[in-house]
Amino acid sequence: MNVTRREFGRLTALGVAAHWAPSLNAQAGTKKIGYAVIGLGRIADHFMRGSLLTSNSAITGLVSGHRDKADRIAAQYKVPQNSIYNYENFDEIARNPAIDAVYVALPNSMHAEYTIRAAKAGKHVLCEKPMCVSVAEAESMIAACKAANVKLMIAYRCQYEPIHLKAIKLIRDGQLGKIEAIESAYGFNEVAGEWRLDKKLAGGGPLFDVGIYCLNACRYLTGEEPTDLHGYTSVVDHDGRFTTVEENVAWNMKFPSGAVASCSTTYGAPMDGFFRVFGSKGTLECDPAFNYDHLHLRGRFSGTRLDDNETTPDPYQFQAEADHFSNCIINNQQPKTPGEEGLRDMTYITKIYASAGIKI
Ligand code: NDP
Repeated sequence: MNVTRREFGRLTALGVAAHWAPSLNAQAGTKKIGYAVIGLGRIADHFMRGSLLTSNSAITGLVSGHRDKADRIAAQYKVPQNSIYNYENFDEIARNPAIDAVYVALPNSMHAEYTIRAAKAGKHVLCEKPMCVSVAEAESMIAACKAANVKLMIAYRCQYEPIHLKAIKLIRDGQLGKIEAIESAYGFNEVAGEWRLDKKLAGGGPLFDVGIYCLNACRYLTGEEPTDLHGYTSVVDHDGRFTTVEENVAWNMKFPSGAVASCSTTYGAPMDGFFRVFGSKGTLECDPAFNYDHLHLRGRFSGTRLDDNETTPDPYQFQAEADHFSNCIINNQQPKTPGEEGLRDMTYITKIYASAGIKI
């Protein structure tokens, strides 16, 4: 998939039009998938805006600890008052036929509980990354969704983004030759008081939050699962922010082909996300790689120079993932990034921390 700006404009126009007119699915005799959004924070806003641009998804429920905020957002998205829930009465969504699925946009340590409660209520689950905060939780989320016969997808937005898909295709087509090494990093300077600095809510530091993009990218770029993982953690800024989670993580990975990766992540510096792939026939670099838009892919390989700025404005990545998950529900297909994909990352994160002496 490679969507140009012009095509995006057309798709957006169609998507917006579809929001006001009956959707293509509705016209074809099927309905839009109705999502209840759990946790009305920053990422939920991107998702809700993205879902509006699809023809197969709608926001039909809200779950929040703040009723005033929920009321405001409900008015914006035309969510009826009787489809607004809080964390205590959430299980009542079981009786709401307008809600087919939930989008879990809560702090990391709450993902497992709300995924399992949603599954028990008979709702499909699109859960933000990181999937949860331990391997055991990931396994129980997968088991709960299987038992309830509902779908589970982890919101790895980059796996639905055209520039990343192009990079994967170039590598799979052999344009770079054999992959020898990958470098990737992503981080930011976290402010004091954020839940991300509280291990009880976050599970761990920047590897859970943003380093996971590098880990996941190394896996989909190589198409391989790492066999050896070694990590280091550190704190540079002793300013009170890093009492329960670490500030920095660096890690190395080795893949079955022999390809090696070195990655780092931080909560102490503005570290624009990037990846660089070094192959026997050339290199490919994406920088920035993990933003919501304006990604930039450059490469030199097989006698070609690539300089591809073409991307799709935010909230396209969220539109694409909502569109994918809704289609999977409508057509009874397995999502491209199911719970098992999140479980794999959780397993590797656990190994990286374990090698640094930290138990998850
Ligand atoms: P925010 O802090 O902006 O929002 C989280 C929301 O969760 C809050 O607004 C609140 O909603 C609800 N909440 C419930 N309990 C708590 C609590 N104890 N402390 C804080 N919030 C609580 O977080 P983000 O939106 O940035 O992150 C949410 C999830 O999304 C995380 O898992 C994160 O990793 C992931 N994420 C994914 C991104 C992506 O690109 N895919 C980017 C950013 C985040 P309310 O007031 O409505 O109850």
